[in-house]
Amino acid sequence: MNTTWDWKIEQQCPQCGAPIILDQTDRILTCEFCRTRVYLASKDHYRYFIPPAEDVNREKFFLPYLRMKGLCYTLAGTNISGRFFDTTALALNTAVFPSNLGLRPQALKLKFAGSEDAGKFLEPAGHNSKTIYSSHPSRAPKTSVTRNYLIGETVSVIYAPFYCASGYVYDAVLKEPLSPRVKEEEFKKLPFAAQKWNLNFIPLLCPHCGADMPGNKSALILFCVNCNNAWKSGNNGFEKINFSTYETSRKEVHYLPFWRIKANIEGIKLDSYADLINLANLPKAPSKRWEKIPFYFRTPAFKINPDLFLRWCKQMTASCSEEKPAEEVPAQSIYPVTLPAAEAAEAIAVILAGLIVDKKRLGQMIKTFNITIGDFLLELHPFDIGQKELIYSRSGTTIDKSALIFGQHI
Ligand SMILES: [Zn+2]
Ligand SMILES: [Zn+2]
Repeated sequence: MNTTWDWKIEQQCPQCGAPIILDQTDRILTCEFCRTRVYLASKDHYRYFIPPAEDVNREKFFLPYLRMKGLCYTLAGTNISGRFFDTTALALNTAVFPSNLGLRPQALKLKFAGSEDAGKFLEPAGHNSKTIYSSHPSRAPKTSVTRNYLIGETVSVIYAPFYCASGYVYDAVLKEPLSPRVKEEEFKKLPFAAQKWNLNFIPLLCPHCGADMPGNKSALILFCVNCNNAWKSGNNGFEKINFSTYETSRKEVHYLPFWRIKANIEGIKLDSYADLINLANLPKAPSKRWEKIPFYFRTPAFKINPDLFLRWCKQMTASCSEEKPAEEVPAQSIYPVTLPAAEAAEAIAVILAGLIVDKKRLGQMIKTFNITIGDFLLELHPFDIGQKELIYSRSGTTIDKSALIFGQHI
């Protein structure tokens, strides 16, 4: 059960101290009082804590829970089905404490761990969202020809507060002992964090030319219009990434970002676009030209529902253009990149399964899909702006604006 969907985060402006309320998808903090805009950078996931009830005067302990969300695709035989998941799980190797966050008040506001001295924080065990999600009995593959693929991520660590009283562990929000009861001594066995986790505030200035960089509050990638560079955040600053833009003479367009991914699949020849025409039996006349066009996988670089995501993966992977893109940030608006490249790459097996026409062969291959990921490139593609939809300039295919809005909450 998901109860963390709507939680907001309370954070002070690092410049003037004004209180600011953020969404869990926010990566940029904007202060309305002093106009400060900073990127919220951390070495891995954001870590928040649930504030304990104010009248708990005992020492507080914070247990880490992972919040994971994304898309899950199941390949069963030759069938592909997708669903959305959003879940939390205890990030400790112990079965003594509650395995999920349980029901919490919706009005509750989280705070960034490290923003105040709230108590003792435990270090999350080296859990991986993919193993936690897949190992759940209801989701484990049922047969050897069924496989799950997760395009998802650990979004954050959420710390829940506890305290000890009269030898037992209490929930510090509800101020009730855990049920079933847990003895205080169980806390002593747990690994407390050696270092305090910190959030870094990076000014939204281009590292190359110093210009201000605009950006949607949930954007993973920022563009500098001044010097034509694209940046992703690292722990202590921005790192340059490669991108290209398919230019258009039309002014009224909106650019959608896609990842172009090079991948090698053991046992399948997919070097050129001609190889793809062959594998996917695309309705194209054989031509020597296709053999010269290198093949790439393409996925949306933004979040949308599972069916649409896969449809756009297939569509962009199967479409081929000899157009030469430019390395220039377009003047028109760019939809924010919200899906990291490494997550997008997880979709390759699913795209492949969707493209292979020889389903008998697919059944054989699912058992051995061995994929090596190569380079990534961020591509910006122009879409015409319709009343309710965006229209891909190249093919006329549309995507509903409402689907994009929904995707911003995934
Ligand atoms: Zn401020
Ligand atoms: Zn610049």
